[in-house]
Amino acid sequence: MTAISARVLGEATVQELREALRGEVVTPADPDYDDARLVWNGLHDARPALIVRCAGAADVIAAVGFARSNDLPIAVRGGGHSVVGFSTSDGGIVIDLSRMNEVHVDPEARRATVGGGAVWADVDHETQAHGLATTGGLVSSTGVGGFTLGGGIGWTLRKFGLACDNLVAAEVVTADGRLVRATETDNPELLWGLRGGGGNFGIVTQFEFELHPLGPTVYAGAIFYPAEAAPALLRTFRSWADTAPDDITALVNLTTAPPLPAIPAEWHGQKIVALLAVSAGPPEDGDALIADLRSVAEPIVDLMGPMPYLAMQTLLDPLWEHGIKAYFKTTNLARLDDELIERLCRIHLESPGPQCEIHVQNMGGAVGRVADGATAFPERSMPFVLNAVTGWHDASLGDAHVEWARTVIGAAADASTGRAYVNFLGDADSAQAAYGEATYKRLVALKNAYDPTNVFRRNQNIAPLAKAA
Ligand SMILES: Cc1cc2nc3c(=O)[nH]c(=O)nc-3n(C[C@H](O)[C@H](O)[C@H](O)COP(=O)(O)OP(=O)(O)OC[C@H]3O[C@@H](n4cnc5c(N)ncnc54)[C@H](O)[C@@H]3O)c2cc1C
Repeated sequence: MTAISARVLGEATVQELREALRGEVVTPADPDYDDARLVWNGLHDARPALIVRCAGAADVIAAVGFARSNDLPIAVRGGGHSVVGFSTSDGGIVIDLSRMNEVHVDPEARRATVGGGAVWADVDHETQAHGLATTGGLVSSTGVGGFTLGGGIGWTLRKFGLACDNLVAAEVVTADGRLVRATETDNPELLWGLRGGGGNFGIVTQFEFELHPLGPTVYAGAIFYPAEAAPALLRTFRSWADTAPDDITALVNLTTAPPLPAIPAEWHGQKIVALLAVSAGPPEDGDALIADLRSVAEPIVDLMGPMPYLAMQTLLDPLWEHGIKAYFKTTNLARLDDELIERLCRIHLESPGPQCEIHVQNMGGAVGRVADGATAFPERSMPFVLNAVTGWHDASLGDAHVEWARTVIGAAADASTGRAYVNFLGDADSAQAAYGEATYKRLVALKNAYDPTNVFRRNQNIAPLAKAA
C-alpha cells in the first residue's frame, strides 16, 4: 500500500479489502493501474485511489461497505462508456463490474440473465446463437449497465422497445449493502426506477431481459449521399417516419465520410449524409420498407441489404474506439420542421472536425406505445431524438467540438419537447430538466427510499431530499 492510499483510507487497509474479495484491488502502486483506470472517453484521465475489480455480488457489497466506512466517493463502472466520465473519479473508489460479464440464455423462456458489467457484444454473441436478440447499443463495446439503466436506444427499438422496456428483473446491491431483487411483483417501484432512472438506486449485479426472435440475417446497413442531399433526405425521412411500420428503425446521420474501403476514396473526408437502418422483419421485405428514402438522391455508395445482425451490431465500432475524446449532447424533438432542417444542414457544413455527427433518430413504434410514466424513461411520444455526437484526438480541438455540439442542440430549442435522453447528456447538471417534473418527483421519492445520503451520485443525479431535522 502506498503512503498516499494509507492516508486516504485511514484505519481500514487495502489489504483487508483484498482479503474480503474474490476479485482484486488495483491501487496506484500496482503495475496495471494505468490500464485499470482507463475509461472509454479519453477526456477523463482520472486517478482513482483504488479500483475494485469485482467477481460477484459479494464483492460489490464489500466494496460499497468499504467505500462508505472510508468515506470514499463511489464511481460504478459497467462498460466504461459514460461520456461525462461517471465511471471514474480522482481519489475515489471505482467499483469495476467488467469481469461480471456472464450471459446465460434460456431459449425456451426467451430470457437472458446478464452480468452487471457485460457489454452488448457479450449479449449479442450469446443470444444470436439461439436466433434471439434484445435491443442493444449501436457500438458493441457499450456497457449493458449504463445503457439499460438510462433507457437504451438501439436498432430494434420500434419493434422490441427500449432496452429498459425489455428489463424484466434486476438484482441490485443497495447503498446499505443489501442484495435486493426487483421485478414487477418484488420491489416494483425499484424496477420502475431502473427502467430509465440511471445508476441512482444501487449497483445492478444481474439484469434479466426478455428476448425476441431475430436474425441471424436482417435487412440493414447504410446508404451514403453527398451532403447536398441532406435537406431532401431529412424531409422525406420526416414524412416516411409517420407511417413506417414497427419493423424498421432508422437514423439520418449528417457526418463526414470516414476512410473506409467501402466508400470511394475521393469521398473520404468530405461532408456527407448517411441513412442507417435495421429491419426486424423478413429481410426480403427490406427494400420496399426504405424505397422512398433510397430514391431521394444518387447515393455515393449503397450498403443496405441483407446482412448478419451481428455484423450490423459491430459496424460502427471502428469509428468510436477507446480513448477518443468525446462530447455528446441531445434533445427530444416535438417536430422536425423545414427551418430546423435548414439550420442543421448549415451547422453540419460548419463542423470543426471529421467526427462531428448530427443524428436524427426516429422513435415511435413499440417505444411510443408504452404509457408515459410506466417507466422512468421520461418521454415516449416524441417522433425524433436529436443527438450531436463529437469525437476528437488533438486536445486543442476540444473547445470547438463542445461548442459545435451545443450549437446543434441550441438550434433545435424551439422544436424541442424540453425533455432529453439522459445517456446522451454531455454534462452532469441537467437531469431534472431531462426527466421533467412528474418523473423527477417520483425518482426523488425512490432515491429517498433507497439512497437517502446519495452514496451513488456519480451519475445523472437524482438528488435526495434532505431530511427535516
Ligand atoms: C461510443 C458510444 C456509443 C453509444 N451508443 C449508444 C446507443 O447506441 N444507444 C444509447 O442509448 N446510448 C448509447 N451510448 C450512451 C451510453 O448508453 C451511455 O454512455 C451509458 O452510460 C454507457 O453504459 P456503460 O455501462 O458503458 O457506462 P459506464 O461508464 O460504465 O457507466 C456509466 C454509469 O452508469 C451506471 N452504471 C453502469 N453499470 C451499472 C450497473 N451495473 N449498476 C448500476 N449502475 C451502473 C453508473 O452510474 C455509471 O457511473 C453510447 C455511448 C458511447 C460512448
